[in-house]
Amino acid sequence: MENTDTIIDDIPLCLHRNYRFRLYPTKEQATLLQSHFFASNQAWNTALGNKIEELNTQSAVLKHERKYSKFNDVYATTVEALKSRKLKFNSGVVQDELRKLDATFQRYYSRKSTGYGFPKFAKSSKTEQSFIIRNQSASWDESHFKVFRQEIKWRQHRAIPAGAKFTGGIIKRTSDGKYWVVLNLTLRHEFPANSSTLECGIDLNVENVSISDSLGNTDLIPLPNFSKSKYSKRYVRLQQQLSRRYKKKNFSKNTKRLQRQANKVQRKIKNCKDDFFHKLSTEIVQHNYGRITLEDLEIKRMKESDSTRLNRLISDVSWDSLIQKIKYKAAMQNVIVREIHPAYTSQRCNPCGYISDANRKTQSVFHCVSCNHTANADCNASLNILEYDEWSLEQKALISSWKISKSLSVSEDPSIGSPGIHAG
Ligand SMILES: [Zn+2]
Repeated sequence: MENTDTIIDDIPLCLHRNYRFRLYPTKEQATLLQSHFFASNQAWNTALGNKIEELNTQSAVLKHERKYSKFNDVYATTVEALKSRKLKFNSGVVQDELRKLDATFQRYYSRKSTGYGFPKFAKSSKTEQSFIIRNQSASWDESHFKVFRQEIKWRQHRAIPAGAKFTGGIIKRTSDGKYWVVLNLTLRHEFPANSSTLECGIDLNVENVSISDSLGNTDLIPLPNFSKSKYSKRYVRLQQQLSRRYKKKNFSKNTKRLQRQANKVQRKIKNCKDDFFHKLSTEIVQHNYGRITLEDLEIKRMKESDSTRLNRLISDVSWDSLIQKIKYKAAMQNVIVREIHPAYTSQRCNPCGYISDANRKTQSVFHCVSCNHTANADCNASLNILEYDEWSLEQKALISSWKISKSLSVSEDPSIGSPGIHAG
């Protein structure tokens, strides 16, 4: 029992990390977990349905007279609704699910303008399911993870550091039917002092990652084409077979077997990517940078949403996973990670600062129409990201007025502003 008796609150230097372990529930335990996937989905859906109804009624009321229910009321109504349906659930799980919905709504309201979508209803038919667990309902020893008074067998493939404090986590079932627990742990960590003045800017692309550092080096690291791996080919074949079967409404045992196979292969593809991104992020962080600058991925994705093909490729590369790994590895080494707005990073000429869509004649070649500077387009972009502080005030103003629609109209209007914007 390592999670409750060690107090590390008084240690100012701690680190939050996720540890994931495979669970091996018995049949009865699996049923119990499944009932909690269902209950937390139902809690989410009930509260979301009520919220939508409330938004509709309140929209008819004058703005300053609008009243919205408080969290405690939402919780009480939801619990009542679940009980009336004779569902069995742990109240902590439902509470946490509603907190998650609350946070999702807050995120929706603050990021609506960038295209963040309205919360969706949860589907219990999805093969991937999860629910949140918290401090009070979980503990463990070497061989078992205890939750809801059940001791579920688990495999601790890596030791949980002594003194780790459990602050919450999730239990999930992945698409291949396996059960996992993800523990959010607070660990003691001696952060090394970092006085490095070396910086780098990273441009993430579909085919490569370009890294420029403040010593003048730029590295282009090619990304493996995951969609051409043997697993991906197998996955595509299985998906084709499945879609034919589903079209014919064939839900036989064989179809289910194929679906399980497809899920398993998909998992394998994800593991390959994870492995690659672990190696790449470790390599990046080992450079002893003081600061790493990246583009804000959420906005970057929006910027390129006009091309579904590119989007598909982007999701294939899974930058989220890479960025997340860079961030936590950087944090452990006391490296600052800065995220900047991605507008015009690929259209700005690094030496002279001229911004124009015409600077990008092709995907890979940058040629400045103002000063004739020629470079690899990705290397030019990572230099712009690295030297973001040197962008002119005028250019920063341009970024702040940047909208998704604007980036779409860029292709019609070859230069942004006339006769183009210069640095300084
Ligand atoms: Zn130029």
